[in-house]
Amino acid sequence: MSARILVVDDIAPNVKLLEAKLTSEYYDVVTAMNGEEALKKVDETKPDIVLLDVMMPGMDGFEVCRRMKENPDHAHIPVVMVTALTDTEDRVKGLQSGADDFLSKPVNDTALMARVRSLVRLKMAVDEWKTRENTATQLGVVNENSSLMEEDATNANILVVEDMEFEIQKIRSTLEDNGNKITVVHHGLEALQAAKEKEFELIAVSLNLQEEDGLRLCSHLRSNERTRATPILMIGSEDDMPKIAHGLEIGAHDYILRPIDRNELMARVRTQIRRKRFQERLRASFEMSLSMALTDTLTGLYNRRYFEVHLGKMLEKGNESQKSIGLLYMDIDHFKNFNDTYGHNIGDEVLKTFSNRLKDNLRSFDLVARLGGEEFVAVLPDTDVKTAHTIAERLRRSIMDAPFRTSYETPLEVTTSIGGVVIEAGDHTITEVLERADGQLYLAKNGGRNSVFFEDCGKLDPEEFRPQSRPILNE
Ligand code: GH3
Ligand code: MG
Ligand code: MG
Repeated sequence: MSARILVVDDIAPNVKLLEAKLTSEYYDVVTAMNGEEALKKVDETKPDIVLLDVMMPGMDGFEVCRRMKENPDHAHIPVVMVTALTDTEDRVKGLQSGADDFLSKPVNDTALMARVRSLVRLKMAVDEWKTRENTATQLGVVNENSSLMEEDATNANILVVEDMEFEIQKIRSTLEDNGNKITVVHHGLEALQAAKEKEFELIAVSLNLQEEDGLRLCSHLRSNERTRATPILMIGSEDDMPKIAHGLEIGAHDYILRPIDRNELMARVRTQIRRKRFQERLRASFEMSLSMALTDTLTGLYNRRYFEVHLGKMLEKGNESQKSIGLLYMDIDHFKNFNDTYGHNIGDEVLKTFSNRLKDNLRSFDLVARLGGEEFVAVLPDTDVKTAHTIAERLRRSIMDAPFRTSYETPLEVTTSIGGVVIEAGDHTITEVLERADGQLYLAKNGGRNSVFFEDCGKLDPEEFRPQSRPILNE
């Protein structure tokens, strides 16, 4: 996994040392010697992670971090504070300024690589969703400028797997302060059971359980469908560093060392919950904008944009496979009258019912779209002339046969005109075939409406397509 890492430190040998370590692991390294330069490099090189020295003359690491996290373009880039200080107050100050983790100098190789790898992985996931969201935004609808730091991180459901009573008390009282709901279990099976029954936003796992290997539980939680995306916070002691490094590699998100510092616990939990919620929001907004970009909100049918792309593909495919395609252009008759007489809302209801009837009377592989207003099209793949005629007549009849029930007191009589073409294999453009179908629709309107016109044969005779009448049963 190649990623770009920005190393910031005012002391040249420190920079060189980290640069050498990271380069040997095939990371792409960029460096900066002070706060201003760091912000400039962040902007120019868009790193995947920043390793940031705290003590620098001028703008210190806290300030650099705070500025990065305030900027929506950079807020999602993980920041690791690299500090000689072991003072918890500074750690907490760093986490409050938005830092995602800490490394102490001299930097331990295992810790460095484990942190970097796990943060890069997280960053890649967020990037992926951000890219998709951008594409969807460009497609035209949602314009949301999401920022990680604005994400609410309170009132979360948290599962704690720990069997030491004094630690449980400390964790519970710390996290409950933020409105979180804490569920405590003592071993792995209970944890998996609890996760089945409830959705958790974070799982804290002790690596010092008496009856069990916490690391194994982490691995289970990672492979379990329900908990795969749930952040895991490992709780261990200094001696557990190799285990912790392994845990981060198999997908745990973070760790905290005993004795647990309340502020640090709170800050780490907050960061993980924020990330989870942020990622979920990106995903939801992506899915929403995708469906909004491709479908019509009133009727739920595909929109013109989707239809055109789809028809283009169908034309190519039809040409390759030498199969003909039916295209029906439909327009509700005197639709304006419904609006004028009963109001726009009733007009909307007519459009919805009309759409549903089209859907109900087409085959599953046919596509129906609303082009706009009261104009609709259906694309019928692999369809010969006779079948296209039958389907078009069936649609016309499905509209006419039963009056539309709306919120208006009496059902409304609705009819539609349909223009159809059967496109034989060959070179065709979307515009050309649509114009041909529209030409037939024009003839249907001029010919008195409530009728189907097809290229090459003119108006269809409804009698020919009347469905077989039911056999008359003996009374
Ligand atoms: P024709 O039989 O020749 O098709 O006549 P028409 O009245 O159906 O056609 P016309 O194109 O004159 O009128 C279409 C009307 O559809 C005009 C427009 O205000 C209305 N309309 C377009 N979109 C919507 C919509 O989303 N909801 C509602 N209620 N009306 C719409
Ligand atoms: Mg009309
Ligand atoms: Mg019209």
